[in-house]
Amino acid sequence: MTQYEAVIGLETHIQLNTASKIFCQCSTQGWNAAPNTHICPVCSGLPGSLPVLNRSVVEKAVLLAKAMHSDIQAISYFDRKNYFYPDLPKGYQISQYDQPIAKGGYMDLPMPGGEVRRIGIWKAHMEEDAGKTKNAGGERQVDFNRCGVPLVEMVTAPDLRTSEEAGQYLIRLRQLLRWIGISEADMEKGQLRCDANVSIRRVGETILNAKTEIKNVNSIEAVKDAITREIERQIVEVEAGRRVEAWTLEWDEDTGTLKKMRSKETEADYRYFREPDLLPVRLDDAWRDQILLNFPELPLERKARFLKEYGIPEYDAELLTVERTFSDYFETAVKAYRGDAKRVSNWLMNDVLRMINDRGISAADLRLSPAYLAAIIQLVDSGAVNAPTGKSLLARVEESGENPAVIVSREGLAQVNDSDAIRSACQEVLTESPAEVAAYKAGKVTLLGWFVGQVMKKMRGKADPSQTRQVLEELLKQ
Ligand code: ZN
Ligand code: MN
Repeated sequence: MTQYEAVIGLETHIQLNTASKIFCQCSTQGWNAAPNTHICPVCSGLPGSLPVLNRSVVEKAVLLAKAMHSDIQAISYFDRKNYFYPDLPKGYQISQYDQPIAKGGYMDLPMPGGEVRRIGIWKAHMEEDAGKTKNAGGERQVDFNRCGVPLVEMVTAPDLRTSEEAGQYLIRLRQLLRWIGISEADMEKGQLRCDANVSIRRVGETILNAKTEIKNVNSIEAVKDAITREIERQIVEVEAGRRVEAWTLEWDEDTGTLKKMRSKETEADYRYFREPDLLPVRLDDAWRDQILLNFPELPLERKARFLKEYGIPEYDAELLTVERTFSDYFETAVKAYRGDAKRVSNWLMNDVLRMINDRGISAADLRLSPAYLAAIIQLVDSGAVNAPTGKSLLARVEESGENPAVIVSREGLAQVNDSDAIRSACQEVLTESPAEVAAYKAGKVTLLGWFVGQVMKKMRGKADPSQTRQVLEELLKQ
């Protein structure tokens, strides 16, 4: 059987998280607002209105270009992309065509097997978003709130080979966008949108069949499903001796099928020409340096450094660098702790991460500061409190924002290591539980944990657990 491979390129539209739109002062927060409440003459395309470029759009685009190792262009231009659709009031979209802000670049993609795939980036350009249309009460209605919301469109080289790789690309892109703080990148809210260009060829051959473009996919799972389906469809076509037509396809999430929208338009159809109402974008060295002044260490670099500097396992380093504030939190806590980084990592990945996820907050919002976390681990290490008390302190500190040492001394939570006190509590428990003692002696040794629990209860959770266990075993032998 003939072997085929897929050749996939992705075009992503990234919504930048600026406060105002790209060419006017309207708020970008019209997502849930009543229709047509975040508009003005500029973004609703009234004749005579003039666009003015929002500086922070350029700044965020430059940050993205840097993260993609692109050539950042000192001069770039806006162009008009002409097409008619009711959600586009001007009859054209202001975009960048042949001289975009960023050219070239790449993104490294660690694959689950450990291999790293380098995916080329062709270009990234700034543009305005269009509005939205919907059917309601037998009418076609239009909402211009989203018109003029800033986007960066980024186009990869056709370097992706499988739907799995396409999914990984989107996961890593979303991580990067949030890391550098330029987009919330929530696909469900349309802040990260993806079109996929898919074609196939026989393995070993360089001749490509025509490509199709899949639109309207709004989750990473849907992108993977749609690409998988399209590859299968194209193989069936080619095997049957038919030609793959250059279609634009729409993914129907509900039925999991692709529908033909139209024959694919070519760039000439858009009649691009320079936008006469805007100046060229001049990015001089001073401005560019200022934008990149505090450019952060990126996730993959940070992961490599964590592995080397802290000697933590690969799994930990990956999880600790998924999100930037969590990663910063880890590093600050390790420095405060001054001990084995793996120990901090364990506390973070289990208890602190659960706290963050349960409450849907970021590590930066925790009242349990990295220094307090380090202090709690130290209290447990030194035996000042036992491990269960340590864990309960996490929530207590998070609730009150108090220094853990203050809570321990005020509430008398310090671990009891006094062997006489532990021994007499153990003896009491055994005296009170003759049935369990008999069962234990008859061979039900798993009851030991239950006895430990009873002693803990009696001593309000403060007994040293290992000492308690030891004393109980000794007494039960008698
Ligand atoms: Zn406006
Ligand atoms: Mn576009």
